Amino acid sequence: MKRRIILLGPPGSGKGTVATRLLQEFGLNHISSGHLLRLEVEKGSAIGQRARLFLEKGELVPDRTVLQLMGQWLKSAPVNDGFVLDGFPRTLSQAKPLDQWLAMRNAPIQAVILYDCVLKLILDRITGRWSCPKCGRVYHIYSAPPKVAGMCDDCSIALTQRADDSEAVVRKRFEIDRRHAKPLADYYEQQGKLTVVDAALSPDERFAKTVAALN
Ligand code: ADP
Repeated sequence: MKRRIILLGPPGSGKGTVATRLLQEFGLNHISSGHLLRLEVEKGSAIGQRARLFLEKGELVPDRTVLQLMGQWLKSAPVNDGFVLDGFPRTLSQAKPLDQWLAMRNAPIQAVILYDCVLKLILDRITGRWSCPKCGRVYHIYSAPPKVAGMCDDCSIALTQRADDSEAVVRKRFEIDRRHAKPLADYYEQQGKLTVVDAALSPDERFAKTVAALN
């Protein structure tokens, strides 16, 4: 299944977990803009320096910077092998250039899945979220625990919690996402590509609904 997919949904809606399974079961490349941005911040690159404060505050990194980063990725991306975009695009002004880039490579997006959920669910979930500082894989103490507590299954190094996963910052990220979600969902709905999945479902059900939408 070599599909090109976008996952939409607020922080904590389970996009990362679904993306990890799509990678494991179908070999689809997982591209998380948040993970790529955090790597740039760690490297101290020009993009990282421009993005750092926005990440810390839980605000959107300006489109220009995100588009520069994602444009770099896309230039060498093996688009015919399929991929899952997680966290990008976040705004209509990111979605349109993405469509243009992909049109030039004759590799349009085929499906967009929106994980719909309320703030309370997100706050409950995010406090239990841990991730691998090396590969970016996301775990949850209840719903997706690692095999050995506190360690990444793949890299065998200690998991960490993100600095922007505090309650205040999560509330803000949720509000920002809500502002942009509707125009973005409408844009893909008009293209006939959108499927909405209830993020409150169990990880297995969410994954099954996602795969059903892709087939
Ligand atoms: P989440 O979905 O849990 O918010 P991400 O890892 O996708 O987490 O994003 C973390 C942060 O990275 C966001 O709060 C934002 O500052 C920045 N970011 C990620 N993707 C984008 C994007 N497409 N546009 C703008 N900012 C982004």
